[in-house]
Amino acid sequence: MAVRNPLLAVFGTLAWAAILAPLLCLPLLLFRFLGLPQELAIFYGIAVFAVAGFVAGRAGTFAFAAFPVGFLGGFVGYAVFFSLAFPPMSLLFAAIHATVEALAAWAAALRVMAKVTPEVRLENEEKRRCRLCGARVGPKARRCWSCHGSLNRIT
Ligand SMILES: [Zn+2]
Repeated sequence: MAVRNPLLAVFGTLAWAAILAPLLCLPLLLFRFLGLPQELAIFYGIAVFAVAGFVAGRAGTFAFAAFPVGFLGGFVGYAVFFSLAFPPMSLLFAAIHATVEALAAWAAALRVMAKVTPEVRLENEEKRRCRLCGARVGPKARRCWSCHGSLNRIT
């Protein structure tokens, strides 16, 4: 699994959380058109936000960031969609849906991190030390800041 820029991953999670849930909520308009019971619509909405949270959490965000980011994305997504589709939008319901999405994102991110972390550590341990003087260097540095030795690996 590729490890991306953490900040990009956070934005990815935010985008997924804010966009996917409302998209999956579009059938709710059909539900109302067909006159399906309100309980079914609520159940469907909660399930949709859980699914969106799982997808969003897999975008590569660290688990500790997935919860607040998932919540924010879910809240914004819910607020925008439901204030357009079913006004007036209920803040309480938005918070409930956002919490469901945040929990799902967090759980998904935990699972992703459990797989990714060992690989990240191996790669970083290898690249983050200068082989001449042992100084810690950035993962993308070409020259050591301390002894100015080249960090290109001889393999
Ligand atoms: Zn050095």
